[in-house]
Amino acid sequence: MLDQLADSLVKWDIIIIGGGATGLGIAVDSATRGLKTLLVEQADFSEGTSSRSTKLVHGGVRYLRGGEIGLVRESLRERGRLLKNAANLVKPLSFVVPAYRWYERFFYGVGLVMYDFLAGKLGIEKTGHFSKEKTLNHIPNLNPDGLYGSTFYWDGQFDDARLAVAMARTAAANDATVLNYVRVNGLIKNDSDKVVGIEAEDQISGTKYEAVGKIVINATGVFTDSVRKMDDPKSANVIQPSQGIHIVLDAEFLGGDTAIMIPNTDDGRVLFAIPWYGKVLLGTTDTGNVPVELEPKPRQEEIDYLIEHAGRYLQNKPTHADIRATFAGLRPLVKPPETGAGDTSKISRSHGLFVSDSGLLTMAGGKWTTYRQMAEDAVGRAIELTGISTNQPCSTGELTLLDREDEEVEALAKKDPALLEKLDPALPWRMGDVVYAVRNEMAQTLLDVLSRRTRIMFLDETAAKKCSHPVVQLMARELGKNEAWIAEQLKILREM
Ligand SMILES: Cc1cc2nc3c(=O)[nH]c(=O)nc-3n(C[C@H](O)[C@H](O)[C@H](O)COP(=O)(O)OP(=O)(O)OC[C@H]3O[C@@H](n4cnc5c(N)ncnc54)[C@H](O)[C@@H]3O)c2cc1C
Repeated sequence: MLDQLADSLVKWDIIIIGGGATGLGIAVDSATRGLKTLLVEQADFSEGTSSRSTKLVHGGVRYLRGGEIGLVRESLRERGRLLKNAANLVKPLSFVVPAYRWYERFFYGVGLVMYDFLAGKLGIEKTGHFSKEKTLNHIPNLNPDGLYGSTFYWDGQFDDARLAVAMARTAAANDATVLNYVRVNGLIKNDSDKVVGIEAEDQISGTKYEAVGKIVINATGVFTDSVRKMDDPKSANVIQPSQGIHIVLDAEFLGGDTAIMIPNTDDGRVLFAIPWYGKVLLGTTDTGNVPVELEPKPRQEEIDYLIEHAGRYLQNKPTHADIRATFAGLRPLVKPPETGAGDTSKISRSHGLFVSDSGLLTMAGGKWTTYRQMAEDAVGRAIELTGISTNQPCSTGELTLLDREDEEVEALAKKDPALLEKLDPALPWRMGDVVYAVRNEMAQTLLDVLSRRTRIMFLDETAAKKCSHPVVQLMARELGKNEAWIAEQLKILREM
């Protein structure tokens, strides 16, 4: 793929900056329409916000409260598609909304029946009510004091980083060039001041590249404004970042396979406790005025908030000592467009598509759940703007995404049975997954494997550090790296 990037004879139709949900979705759409597609990501695929979500493919029950029916309907349609097109990766998950006031079952019941109704034929299973006893059967650790019962409903759950890799593979299988660890440092403009390409740098070797194409799409999440400023230093900011964190606890803090959704805490936030890979994800927060960075850190007050609120709803209350891992992500929220800022359109309240005077196209905001629709909108607009000829319409609504098969890892282990050894007894990944990730999924660093090809670092930081030595040795063997590289990788992990 680097050879393709280096080939100055290649003229790209679409060049995408950013390898999160938005950029990868655009790459899949563009490549499957037969367009010559290049995507570059400065770090690892999904290393920005897209590996740090609540892992829900959902309509967003809370948007109903705000009356955003269009957004909920669009998200539920995309949920239905993902359950079909990425059946290995997106699974139905049941939720209870506990009622501690007599009217809450009725109140949430009405909202959730409407949620079902909006999903139409793409609904999962019917919403209903549980008695107090049945609620506690599903969530044994729920606080029983004052509990009337609950409303239950269904949504989708996924592994966000793994879906991102599946999207990168699907784009590549359709002839796209998708590169991680290639950063865009500048934009190339022609004599008419139109953006025609990118100046990029391989973050591993330091090699510099230039690539030209018919259109450049900025899909850089919370970094959107920094790329817009490469085009026009005076361009108005369109992104308002907001931090959300999760803490990870052992499974006993739920005690079952059903998630809890608290739609309205005292301060009006939504709180989820979700079973994931044998642990519990608890989140999230909404903190404004945060710096834009690739590795945001949870703040102490955010952790305290989650522990305190979990304690209100759980019988066996978690303490700070029970936290196995924490992770923080930045939502790339779109500010309302400013008049006269040179931007032409805003597609919906959920995401924004901006065309700069130079022709740079920016897709920002939205949700993981709606990435496919965002991609369809972005590529459709790119075709309109450039007149690129393609006779293939968007086909991603029916496209199956390519995922890793367990048998592929088992086939590796036939030659070397040691590859069946687990990285941690309580988690599903094996040494074979490390080899597979390096050979087939472009894993370049220890953290690519521990955080995103497997999710150990997100689930149990101590377990990740414990298995880091054999993992990094195996990666060095596969990648042909030396002792200095191993030491550097371990140092980065220690400093996380
Ligand atoms: C706490 C939290 C929970 C969430 N939960 C959910 C959920 O449960 N369900 C849901 O649907 N949505 C959820 N979301 C929203 C969803 O995660 C985001 O909308 C989505 O991941 C944004 O993807 P993105 O590709 O736009 O941004 P990113 O994932 O941040 O990708 C942008 C990429 O651009 C790269 N980049 C930046 N500058 C450059 C450059 N110069 N050169 C090359 N690459 C560059 C970055 O490295 C980054 O990887 C959640 C968000 C947060 C923060």
